[in-house]
Amino acid sequence: MVTRLSTFFLRTLRDDPAEAELASHKLLVRAGYIRRAAPGIYSWLPLGLKVLNKVENIVREEMNAIGAQEVHFPALLPKEPYEATGRWEEYGDNIFRLQDRRKADYLLAPTHEEMFTLLVKDMYSSYKDLPVYLYQIQTKYRDEARPRAGLLRGREFIMKDSYSFNLDEEGLDEAYAAHRAAYLKIFERLSLEIRPVFAMAGAMGGSKSEEFLHPTEVGEDTFVVSPGGYAANVEAVTTPPLDPIDYTNAPAAHVELTPNSETIETLVDAANENHPKDTPWTSADTLKCVALVVVTPNGDRELAVVGVPGNRQADLKRIEATIGELMGIAGESQVEVATDEDLERHPELVKGYIGPGLSKDEAVLGREARSGVPFFVDPRVVEGSSWITGANLRDHHVFGLVAGRDFGWDGVLEAVVVEDGDPAPDGSGPLKTTRGIEMGHIFQLGRRYAEALDLKVLDPNGKAQVVTMGSYGVGVTRAVAAIAEAHHDDKGLVWPRAVAPADVVVIIAGKGDELTETAEDIAGKLDEAGLDVMLDDRAKVSAGVKFRDAELIGIPTTVVVGRGVADGVVEVKDRATGEAENIALDAVVEHVAQLAAR
Ligand code: ATP
Ligand code: MG
Repeated sequence: MVTRLSTFFLRTLRDDPAEAELASHKLLVRAGYIRRAAPGIYSWLPLGLKVLNKVENIVREEMNAIGAQEVHFPALLPKEPYEATGRWEEYGDNIFRLQDRRKADYLLAPTHEEMFTLLVKDMYSSYKDLPVYLYQIQTKYRDEARPRAGLLRGREFIMKDSYSFNLDEEGLDEAYAAHRAAYLKIFERLSLEIRPVFAMAGAMGGSKSEEFLHPTEVGEDTFVVSPGGYAANVEAVTTPPLDPIDYTNAPAAHVELTPNSETIETLVDAANENHPKDTPWTSADTLKCVALVVVTPNGDRELAVVGVPGNRQADLKRIEATIGELMGIAGESQVEVATDEDLERHPELVKGYIGPGLSKDEAVLGREARSGVPFFVDPRVVEGSSWITGANLRDHHVFGLVAGRDFGWDGVLEAVVVEDGDPAPDGSGPLKTTRGIEMGHIFQLGRRYAEALDLKVLDPNGKAQVVTMGSYGVGVTRAVAAIAEAHHDDKGLVWPRAVAPADVVVIIAGKGDELTETAEDIAGKLDEAGLDVMLDDRAKVSAGVKFRDAELIGIPTTVVVGRGVADGVVEVKDRATGEAENIALDAVVEHVAQLAAR
């Protein structure tokens, strides 16, 4: 059916919405695709739904093609399954929790591992039933701390989530490979450049995991690539092991006066001024001891100190990825810089002069610094390396403090911001950092959920075996925003054909029955030829406004039915290239149909 703009529910806006920063967000609102209902929560208008449905269908087709079967769960779920796996607590503030009239706890699902696991447990009991891949395209809820950029990070959003159930590791590998291949096809069909990168399994608690990142400046994720083809989210980058340094002849550590040197910069200046040596001290000679607070899923604030070379920045997100486990905290913890209030509870940590403490030669310091606060180091702090660092005494630093001789640590974790030039963990060369948006994520979950919810099947020997699972997500609404961001210009959106709300818009550019009848005729025939057709038949709207709206909305092809009709031609315009050509009236349907088939 031809979509007639005269009656279509659409109002384009001249001004950008106040809260929007990214072009995709501004354009999707201005062109009448979405409307904001609350922060991070959007309504879909008819135009938006057309695009959303096309994206969903591409995802659906590729899921069906690997033999996955579609189901649909509620978004409103009881607490119990999420309690069984520990995620009711682990998710912390990120889930929307609510109660029914009987005061029973419910949540709006952030993701559905538990429900799929229970469904398979309910229905299947034998290895003969496996493998099975199930998926849904469904609304998820996450109370994101920073909803951002319209659909890119919503608090309500649509995800395609699938789950694989296998008896053994080989089966899981196969399911994972099938999803990986399907994802590459999906993003190709969506015209989104994609880079699969190694990722941290994080809260999902599994092993192998990759993210599908769309490289773009506006992305929130940082990933790295090496000339040899290594690619990873920075959170997953590991530092290749460094050799220990021989410290047999290293001089003893000594505490020195370094007044007013609470930053690395002032410390380096103080060191060069008061304790000069042949080659000047640099920030790389200093060990920065950063006081952090690990906020546990139930809200406790636990202090920890992390030692990083002074010439590097601490990366709280990377620290967050592993510190909880090192401290024996279950679930997802948040890491923050310790506040003055946090430090007040630990007077032994002197702000600006925090050091790892001396384990062998306490006399030099005269105080024990460790006092139960866990101390972790970056892998660059290798055994035998010698540092200038805090003496846990106001206006004092200790020089020549040797790692492994003078101080120890409770664990090693990746703690610094990955920089261009850092070595790839697999020896494939120096890393280069790039930004991207996470469009999809695939995980080998293993047996965590099946164990927690007791999903077992009988193996060929009649023995009950815990099933192994995979979990695979695609951000569907996020994809709409990312495609819009990747495909726009200063005039508006430029949809790739596969997801455009229509193939072609036929514009009646002028008055008179002849133009109207010609346009109606062309639109009708294009529709019969199987194209998605819009007809801009709005009365009392100028041709100029119609052209501008067509460009803003971003339909791939425009047919302008105007003055040329008198000479037997219409103008066919390409939205992406801006090229226009006159096509004879009797050839236009075939011409446009061919464009659409490409
Ligand atoms: P992010 O790191 O961006 O917060 P995530 O790792 O929490 O995402 P997953 O749990 O892996 O996300 O979810 C699978 C997919 O769902 C993501 O790859 C992403 O495309 C999409 N997604 C996740 N959170 C959001 C959101 N708040 N808004 C829109 N899409 C989202
Ligand atoms: Mg993810």
